[in-house]
Amino acid sequence: MSERTDIDVKKLKAQMQAHRRDLLKHGAGDQESLKPVEVDQTSTGRLSRMDAMQSQAMDLEIERRRHQELQRIEAALQRIDDGSYGYCVACGEAIAIKRIENDPTTPVCINCAKDTPAAG
Ligand SMILES: [Zn+2]
Repeated sequence: MSERTDIDVKKLKAQMQAHRRDLLKHGAGDQESLKPVEVDQTSTGRLSRMDAMQSQAMDLEIERRRHQELQRIEAALQRIDDGSYGYCVACGEAIAIKRIENDPTTPVCINCAKDTPAAG
């Protein structure tokens, strides 16, 4: 297994590092929304409390995805550093360029992605 020469790894690395910066920047000011929902029952009705809880659930989902995305980026950057980037982590086959262009953080080839949808 040798480093891919058919893909612009340097460019992808820069892209992912920029993306990671954005994700981290976004997360820094977001902690407030993760606190338990506190609604003053005397001044607000049941509906607005449900709205608040629903909105918090959405925030948590966004946060969960952000975290997942960060982990994928970290893993991809790690693979770039150790020279295994561009190869499927499951079967070792070269990942199609189109697939990498579509999602530079993808760890598996199209065949393995079919087997394990969660791996993307
Ligand atoms: Zn594979």
